[in-house]
Amino acid sequence: MRICARLAIFIAGGYPAGLMPQLNRGFTLTWLGHSSFRLKTRAAKTVLIDPWVEGNPACPREAKAFDAIDVMTISHGHGDHMSDAVTLAKKFKPAIVCNYEIHLFLARKGVNGTSPMNKGGTQEAAGVRFTMVHATHSSGIEDGGQVVYGGEPCGYVLTLEDGTRIYHAGDTGPMADMTVIGELYKPDVALLPIGDLYTMGPREAAWAAKAVQARYVVPMHHSTFPALTGTPEMLREELKKLGASCEVVALRPGESLS
Ligand SMILES: [Zn+2]
Ligand SMILES: [Zn+2]
Repeated sequence: MRICARLAIFIAGGYPAGLMPQLNRGFTLTWLGHSSFRLKTRAAKTVLIDPWVEGNPACPREAKAFDAIDVMTISHGHGDHMSDAVTLAKKFKPAIVCNYEIHLFLARKGVNGTSPMNKGGTQEAAGVRFTMVHATHSSGIEDGGQVVYGGEPCGYVLTLEDGTRIYHAGDTGPMADMTVIGELYKPDVALLPIGDLYTMGPREAAWAAKAVQARYVVPMHHSTFPALTGTPEMLREELKKLGASCEVVALRPGESLS
């Protein structure tokens, strides 16, 4: 029975009822597939991280609907991270945490309420503190057949009301800054891309997980398309080789860590 349960985790990447790790810190973090997450805070505020919902083939239908969005964060200009930013921003009027160039782009599209920042800075919205950190990637925005400069790509460290820290790495390769992020912010949970090709693969992500010193790692940017070949199982294997002690929380789209 126990072996069956473990096998189920291995094959599906998800958790049978009752086996999902619990932090019990009053938040709910739901994976919407790819790099999009919905965070419900202790104060019942909704934060949407990287708004790619409608066209996201990994996002379950029931997870595409929102009652409210209080804050939206955008890691960079690629469509698989911000395609729904304009539509959702006009509908729900959230505070939008993003870089200065994406703020200019959204303003040109008629979106108000952007709250631009840059790397190393922190701002608060809906009771959550957002620190913008480095990511090594690109950030062009496709717009009517043109590529618009989208500033630099980034990640965010979210500090919740009780001090819990969640690091969303955005799209990135491995980088020395991850050691800085680990030392400065000591995230409890790290959301790391593992799909390979456009971001880190499992080997690089295992190194990153160790560098940021997070207790829990949630793999993202994987399994959306066949080209993204890295899997949570491969990440576990690479972490074992490094002797890293963090736990891989392999959510399925629609599942939550709370
Ligand atoms: Zn990207
Ligand atoms: Zn991406």
